[in-house]
Amino acid sequence: MSLWKSSREASHRTDFLGAVAQSLAPDGGLYVPERVEPFADLDSLLEEDFHSRSCRVLARLVGDGALADALPEMLPQVFDFPLPLTRLDDELYALELFHGPTLAFKDFGARFLAAVLARGATAGEARTVLTATSGDTGSAVAHAFFGQQHVRVVVLYPAGKVSPLQEKQFAALGGNVTCFAVDGSFDDCQALAKACFADRELSRQLGLTSANSINAARWVAQVPYYFEAVARLPCEQRGRLLIAVPSGNFGNLAAGLLAQRLGLPVKRFLAATNSNRAVPEFLAGSPYRPRASVATISNAMDVGAPSNWERVRALFDGDDHALRSTLAGAAIDEAATEGAMRDLAALGFVADPHAAVGYAALEQQRQPGEVGMFLATAHAAKFRETVERVLNRAIELPPALAAWADRPVLSRCLANDLDALKRAISAATSD
Ligand SMILES: *Cc1c(COP(=O)(O)O)cnc(C)c1O
Repeated sequence: MSLWKSSREASHRTDFLGAVAQSLAPDGGLYVPERVEPFADLDSLLEEDFHSRSCRVLARLVGDGALADALPEMLPQVFDFPLPLTRLDDELYALELFHGPTLAFKDFGARFLAAVLARGATAGEARTVLTATSGDTGSAVAHAFFGQQHVRVVVLYPAGKVSPLQEKQFAALGGNVTCFAVDGSFDDCQALAKACFADRELSRQLGLTSANSINAARWVAQVPYYFEAVARLPCEQRGRLLIAVPSGNFGNLAAGLLAQRLGLPVKRFLAATNSNRAVPEFLAGSPYRPRASVATISNAMDVGAPSNWERVRALFDGDDHALRSTLAGAAIDEAATEGAMRDLAALGFVADPHAAVGYAALEQQRQPGEVGMFLATAHAAKFRETVERVLNRAIELPPALAAWADRPVLSRCLANDLDALKRAISAATSD
């Protein structure tokens, strides 16, 4: 059986399902696999189709047992949308991760987490999935758990600070999804959620479950698409690959590094951030200095103190030299992000601002001989106002978004106050 350990005290050990249930280790660390055994038969693994290869990759991470046995049935339902690798020129690719139900890559992790929890549910036991969001997490999590029996989803978001379409994607769902528009910032929402999890009585009563990006199930679900990306490349390009990952909390990048530890041939990774530059500064040789976030047009990456960074460092056992030789960083400012959106449009690719940060980072850092790939993390229509302004052209809404445009927002307003939130959650869960 494969065990998971805390990124701090290795003596905090549990199996995969324990790590999923706890989200955070008792010492405040993040769970990482105790040992990662690379695949010896990589070439034949890459020959397999996406679902059967993903079963093998995930089974290695979750360990033998009932969950691993269930993967062949689960995965075709969880990853039931296209995953295009678009070739922009001979040595430049975009991996499109935004074809899931909420049009951002967070669908991969949220849908896998929901499926894992649904399997593990004890009949009749109630669960409350609580999440704070600045936009994309809320919709991915709400859609993933929508309609599940005995599950109540509670989404906290900063009133007036998410895009109108993002808000509709979670706040118009209704059913078992309850949304609170909090009179405060995203940080306030996150602090409220944390305070609820810290309240043991409330946690027990409601069966509180965290769905944020440090959760092990969300993390591992992002590993298979890195394998798929490499599998689709011509063989002679495989050893020369540089992958740029637009990053905020660094869960996605941590998954790429985990794929590499499993033996995937990726030459280097690139941590692409917006003006929230703590990680690129560290990678360039400075001490690590997390700080308050600054607002940008790639707002899903406006994170000043990335929660998965500790996990990235744990994967390298604290060896910063090894880390810096595999991972470079690039911080892309607003003007360069907009320039990248225009350059990509000229190549025929309409990018959202997050994907554009990835492309700009590649252009800045790619060395001769390297094959470049950036992850396109959201559909451009999700950030329609920005994309239309920068490209000076109309962006059509795909059906998955247009369906929401006319639905009423059902969220309730809430003061930035813990007691008010606890009362409101208790009322919602006893409906
Ligand atoms: C969440 C998000 C990111 C950042 O991903 P991390 O795993 O937190 O680094 C990037 N782009 C989009 C569109 C997102 O929604």
